[in-house]
Amino acid sequence: MPQRESSQLLRKIPKVDELLMAAEIKELLDVHPPEVVREGIRNGLQRLRQAILGAEKTEDITEESFSLSNLLPLFKEEIAKQVNPNLRRAINATGVVIHTNLGRSPLSERALREIEEAAKGYSNLEYDLIKGARGSRYVHVEEILLRLSKAEGGLVVNNNAGAVLLALNTLAVGREVIVSRGELVEIGGAFRIPDVMAKSGGTLREVGTTNKVHLKDYEEAISDKTGLLLKVHTSNYRVVGFTSEISLEELVQLGEKHNLPVMNDLGSGCLIDLSSYGMEKEPTVQEAIKTGVGVVTFSGDKLLGGPQAGIILGKKDLIDMIKANPLNRALRIDKLTLAALESTLIAYLSEAEAIKEIPTLRMLTIPLDELQKRAKRLQQLLAKETDGAAIEAIKTTSQVGGGALPLHDLPTWAVAVKPTTASLEALEAALRNQAPPIIARITDDRICLDLRTILADEFTLIVHGMAQALRKIST
Ligand SMILES: *Cc1c(COP(=O)(O)O)cnc(C)c1O
Repeated sequence: MPQRESSQLLRKIPKVDELLMAAEIKELLDVHPPEVVREGIRNGLQRLRQAILGAEKTEDITEESFSLSNLLPLFKEEIAKQVNPNLRRAINATGVVIHTNLGRSPLSERALREIEEAAKGYSNLEYDLIKGARGSRYVHVEEILLRLSKAEGGLVVNNNAGAVLLALNTLAVGREVIVSRGELVEIGGAFRIPDVMAKSGGTLREVGTTNKVHLKDYEEAISDKTGLLLKVHTSNYRVVGFTSEISLEELVQLGEKHNLPVMNDLGSGCLIDLSSYGMEKEPTVQEAIKTGVGVVTFSGDKLLGGPQAGIILGKKDLIDMIKANPLNRALRIDKLTLAALESTLIAYLSEAEAIKEIPTLRMLTIPLDELQKRAKRLQQLLAKETDGAAIEAIKTTSQVGGGALPLHDLPTWAVAVKPTTASLEALEAALRNQAPPIIARITDDRICLDLRTILADEFTLIVHGMAQALRKIST
């Protein structure tokens, strides 16, 4: 619109101080601090200013645009943006159980209770209750980790990337670390073995080719510069076809022969053999420890199903060296994580208990007929409560995620939703913008809500969110 007209309109924008006198705004001031209300009004008015400057025709901006009834929702939105946490709960309907972008593992009820206990008051975090003196924060989980894994020593840090960095920095600084070319992994979010190696102060010594490595490749690379032999679990990919790799046992034997420590980055680190639940074999922590390996590292929030953490287990002398590294202090685990990790580990004292109690394991092992039952129930609720879509329960596949079992598809049941008029992309986006956001995937020309990762108490939220989203895209 012409500049003269737009500046005329801009002059009609109400003043913040005037607005603060209005009864509706006073109500907001009863709930929110004045700083927040003021900023909310300022930002709301800024949006109006932008609308005026962006309007093509004068008629797009009417008297109504300046009314309090029109502006109030804007102010409320701008207040909500300030006071509602940006990090919020989301519904994972993707079927990817360990979804790194959606926060990996939901915690068990027991872990939640223990986090609350540890958070709301003081604790014996670093206080020895028997001696009445300073203690160590690591003792809380060390004993149970050793019991479950049969390792001689252990410690926990902030995450597995930190665990790998700390272990390499302790065992290989200024020395060469021999790794197979086929194991130079990149994990989502820019964790790359060569880069972590460089930061640790170790020097990467690659051996073999992408698809094949032989024991003699390692052996020939060993020199007086060698500090460590490293094996990395190819968490999120597999090299298939004409391949050969060296087992951890063989590498441990080679290490013994040359008096060199051996480390295994397990990535996901599983304490239960999932192959007894119909899943593909993922190496367990106990199996790795049994080989006599010097150090293993793994994540707390992948297959273990606990909080974000990096767990380091192995031979006592090596673990003691790692504990003494000053970098350990920079990577230390916090008390809330410790509380959650300890209670997650307690569930593992019984395998049956762990499967029942830990959400990640429970989701991975739900029987197919149970998923089918839930899909039918959600389908019925959605069909009854929503309009504008064809809805059916279908059999499909889900993924483990989190860099575990990359080739393994789990059969599952989902509710498939196809909007009658709007596009799938519009519905997917509208679901994402619900409160809480519903994250779904598009497969076979439909929106799929996978029952494997939908928690028991989320049905009502999904039905409500779907009804809203369908209404929004059809107008
Ligand atoms: C996931 C993974 C990591 C990184 O673990 P975080 O807990 O995400 O820091 C490192 N190595 C391997 C092999 C992994 O799979």
